[in-house]
Amino acid sequence: MATYFAGVTLFDGRTVRTDAGVLVSNGTIAWTGANARVPREARAAHEVDSEGKTLTPGLIDCHVHLCFDGTADFAKEAQDLTPARAAFKATRNALRHLEHGVTTVRDLGGVASVICEFARAVDEGVAPGPRIVAAGRALTITGGHGHNIGIAREVDGPDAVRQAVREEIRGGATAVKIIATGGVLTPGIAAEFTAFTPEEMEAAVDEAHKRGRGVAAHAIGSPGITAAVLAGVDSIEHGSMITAEAARIMKANGTFHVPTISAIRGIVDHAEEVPAYAVEKAVALAERARDAFRRAARTGVRHACGTDGGTPFNPHGNAPMEIVRMVEWGLTPLKALRAATSEAAELLRLPKVGVVEPGRAADLALFDGNPVDQVDAILKPALVMKAGELVGGG
Ligand SMILES: [Zn+2]
Repeated sequence: MATYFAGVTLFDGRTVRTDAGVLVSNGTIAWTGANARVPREARAAHEVDSEGKTLTPGLIDCHVHLCFDGTADFAKEAQDLTPARAAFKATRNALRHLEHGVTTVRDLGGVASVICEFARAVDEGVAPGPRIVAAGRALTITGGHGHNIGIAREVDGPDAVRQAVREEIRGGATAVKIIATGGVLTPGIAAEFTAFTPEEMEAAVDEAHKRGRGVAAHAIGSPGITAAVLAGVDSIEHGSMITAEAARIMKANGTFHVPTISAIRGIVDHAEEVPAYAVEKAVALAERARDAFRRAARTGVRHACGTDGGTPFNPHGNAPMEIVRMVEWGLTPLKALRAATSEAAELLRLPKVGVVEPGRAADLALFDGNPVDQVDAILKPALVMKAGELVGGG
């Protein structure tokens, strides 16, 4: 069944054009162009009245944890997170992404290989959900950030790190996550200290890149950010203390910044409910994170949208809110939308999504109004399509 979007404002992942037509056929984009030049094949298609609406690529969230729900106490939720329970939660959380127009996510740390298996189930049509790039378990140093919540494995020394990357890939991982510094959600450790050595990070990057996987580095303190970038990681997650020097090196290396503003806001805006150790660290970082984001943007570092969905008061399906927050922090709506579409697809090494052009998958979201003019319009999709099938909205 073919679908034709007639007379729509099209944000194709890069630029905007008005009065466009988009033909979807067999799950892919078959044609785009001026609505006035509608192709013959579109006549037999189901026509979606799109006047006054805006069509975008399905949104991409580059940082989620599908095993977690966004409850107040992350560490407590982790305590009884068996693989089966994690799978049930992931199944429900996946639907929340689709409902909000998010058709691709990257999971950066889950229980065992549950999310890798789930990604495969979605691919095979066994379970509904967005496309999932999954890191399996994150890699952290012994006693490092995340070691207490079952979604990271403790590993020390370049050889052991290399072996861990191989094992996660054997388990189905299509991305690699390293925890380069301390973090907010682990009690008893500072957020900014540098964790892995340069040699350990280089081993992870070398092994991952040889296998065609990108590497995401959780990094908050600036020495850890710089070390991770120099080791060759593809993205800095959080990046709360990106200095002018770090921004320059990121720009030179083409490293993405995934700011996860929603993670900070979830904790800071619910200070009464979230455990005090996390609130204290998040409050201390909030302002610096905004400065770091602006510094990175000014320097020309590319941003990719990532929510850290699953952390306290940061529910799944939050990518549209993250787009709004990136605009609040200083990006133009156009740049924030690119960060959640074409730029994100590039970071995730997914050439089939993120842009509306012939040959790409028909992952699409339709909005009333125009989020490029009024970014809030992104919060409520009227229609969501994945591979040409209706999966949400309305
Ligand atoms: Zn995370």
